[in-house]
Amino acid sequence: MAVRNVRTEENPVLREKCVEVPSITDGIKRLINDMFETMYEFDGVGLAAPQIGIAKKIVVIDDRDGNKLALINPVITESRGEQISEEGCLSLPGFAGRVKRPEFVKVEALNVDGDEILLEAEGFLAIVLSHEIDHLDGILYKDKAFEFGKAAKR
Ligand code: ZN
Repeated sequence: MAVRNVRTEENPVLREKCVEVPSITDGIKRLINDMFETMYEFDGVGLAAPQIGIAKKIVVIDDRDGNKLALINPVITESRGEQISEEGCLSLPGFAGRVKRPEFVKVEALNVDGDEILLEAEGFLAIVLSHEIDHLDGILYKDKAFEFGKAAKR
């Protein structure tokens, strides 16, 4: 396992449309392990593959309930409601913004074993899923933020 470099906003890989993962090879599993290690190293709650320079449809998330989620080729198939919260992103260090997201999302994806999984999430997890899956389409939260600027020092 290895911590990878997190790409920041000026890197064009963050604006790429990521490609689907055709099969879950040992290399993909290593990549996912590195994504978790990188996410925890930088105190993130989620990380998308383009953030470490790989334009493939993979996201990892820590749901704050002790579950590590690795989602391959995730797609939001349903969403409803709305919620507004402050978001940040490891690729936009030092900044924060307020973003409107769905309150509920349904996501289809593959897990690391290649099984199809269906995830229903609301609240915080719905925000993280929306944010990370946006990365796979080259979308950054600042594109959707109605307030964006330097994060307050904590
Ligand atoms: Zn992000």
